[in-house]
Amino acid sequence: VARERGAHRIARVKVRVGDFSGVVPAALEFAFDALKAESLAAGAALEIERVPIAVKCPNCGSTDPPAADLALWCTQCTTPLEILAGQELDVQYIDVEEE
Ligand SMILES: [Zn+2]
Repeated sequence: VARERGAHRIARVKVRVGDFSGVVPAALEFAFDALKAESLAAGAALEIERVPIAVKCPNCGSTDPPAADLALWCTQCTTPLEILAGQELDVQYIDVEEE
């Protein structure tokens, strides 16, 4: 994207990471730092916004959080929960410096 825009440097990348995405923010930061060298993003900062899990029971409508990370059923009626948020892995924006 930065190259398409004629940018010579990426200053900042903001990513939204859901708590139920399977992505560990510390591992993402480590990988970003390891891979950015010798790229347009060499000096870029990575900003991570964590998105907490949000659920809804399709049976009783409860939005109570699950009892445990991998126990995605309703604590009120034991119906499997619908996940409304928390699976994100989205690039929100990339700040670039143009020539
Ligand atoms: Zn329920």
